[in-house]
Amino acid sequence: MTTAILLVFLLFFLLEYAVETALLVVNLRHVARVGAEVPAPLAGRVSEETARRSRDYTLAKGRFALLSGALGSLFTLAVLLSDALPLLDGRLAALGLGGGHRFVAFLAVLSAAYGLFGLPFSLWRTFVIEEHFGFNRTTWKVWLADQAKGLGLGLALGVPLGYATHAFMAGTGRLWWLWLFGFLTGVQVVMLWLYPALIAPLFNEFSPLPEGELRARLEAMAREAGFRNRGLFVMDASKRSAHSNAMFMGLLRPRIVLFDTLVERMTVDEAAAVLAHEVGHFKERHVQKRLLLGLAASLLGLWVLSLLAAWPPLFQAFGFAAPSWHAALALFALGGGAFTFFLAPLGSWLSRRHEYQADRFSVRLARAPRALGSALVKLNGENLSNLHPHPWYSRWHYTHPTLLERLQAIEAAARA
Ligand SMILES: [Zn+2]
Repeated sequence: MTTAILLVFLLFFLLEYAVETALLVVNLRHVARVGAEVPAPLAGRVSEETARRSRDYTLAKGRFALLSGALGSLFTLAVLLSDALPLLDGRLAALGLGGGHRFVAFLAVLSAAYGLFGLPFSLWRTFVIEEHFGFNRTTWKVWLADQAKGLGLGLALGVPLGYATHAFMAGTGRLWWLWLFGFLTGVQVVMLWLYPALIAPLFNEFSPLPEGELRARLEAMAREAGFRNRGLFVMDASKRSAHSNAMFMGLLRPRIVLFDTLVERMTVDEAAAVLAHEVGHFKERHVQKRLLLGLAASLLGLWVLSLLAAWPPLFQAFGFAAPSWHAALALFALGGGAFTFFLAPLGSWLSRRHEYQADRFSVRLARAPRALGSALVKLNGENLSNLHPHPWYSRWHYTHPTLLERLQAIEAAARA
C-alpha cells in the first residue's frame, strides 16, 4: 500500500512539474519569436520600445521561473522523500515536546525552512530582475523592515492560530474539521475587518484623496452606482514598486484605495474607468462569490484532510512511525498542490469571466469606453505585460483576459 501511495503522489507531482514547465517553455518560445512586434490592432497605441521591453521582461521573468520552479520542486521532493520530516518529529519528541507544543514547533520549523529557501529567489526577483527593468523602488532598509514586520506578524498570528487549530483537531471529536472550519471562517472575517485598520498601515501609508476634479468625479460615480464605501484613499505604493493598481479594502463598506502611481499617470477619465471596473466587481457580486467559493474550497480541503489524517498508510508511506495531526497537515500542505494544480484552469476561466463583466459594468457606469481602453493600454505598458502570451499559457494561468481580448470586448460593449 505504501508503495502505491508514493507512486500516485510521484505521478501527480511529476505531471504537475511537466505541464507547468511545458506551458512556460511554449510561452517563452512564442514570445522570443514574435514578442518584439506590436500586434496589428495596437499599432499606434503601443510603442515599439514598449513591445521590446515587454518581451525582454517576460523572457527574464520566465527564465527565472524555470529555474526557481525546478529548484523549488526538488526542494519539496527532498523534504517529503528524505525522511527529514520524521527526523524533525523525532527530535521534537526527544526534546519532550508533545500535543499542541509539538504541533506548533513542527510547523514553525517547516515554515522557517521554506522561508529561508525562498529568500534568495525573492531577493533576486526584487533587486535584480525588477531593478533591471526599473520597477524596483524598494531600498534595503524598506526590504529589511518588511521582512522583520512580516516575521513578527507571522509569529503573532501564526502561533496562536497553530495552538487553536491543534485544539480543534485533537479536542472536538470526529467532526473536528467542521468545528475548525467554523473557527477559521470567523478568523477570516475578523481579519478582513481588521486588515485595513491595523495591518495594512504597518506596510503603507494611506491618505485621503485630495479634493479636486478626480475626487469629485469618483465620488459622483460611486454615488450613482449606489456603492457604499468608507472613502477614497491614496496608498504610497511607489515606495516599493512602480507597478500601479486600484483596489478595495474591507468587507461590507470597503475603503477605495488608489495606488499613488495610478493617480500620477492616469487622466481623470481613465482613473474613473478603472475604478468603475473595480466597483463592477462589487456590484456584480464577484467579491462575494469568490469569498463563498474560497470557503467551499477550504471546507472541502478540511474534509479531505480529515480522511487523510485517519489513514495510517499515508504516514507510513512518508516515513512516519505513527499518524499525527502535524504530519497530516504538513503532508497535505506540501503534497496537495500536485493535485489541485489541475483545477487552476477552472479558476482562471471563472476569473476571466468576471473581468469581462466588470469591464462591461465600467463602460455602463463611467461611460468612457475609450478611456478604459487607454487606461488598460497604459497599465499594460507600465507593467510591461506580455503582449503575445501563448494561448495555452493564458488559458491555464491568466486571471485576466489578454489586452487584445479586453479591448475587443470593450469596443463591442460600447457599441451595444
Ligand atoms: Zn478586475
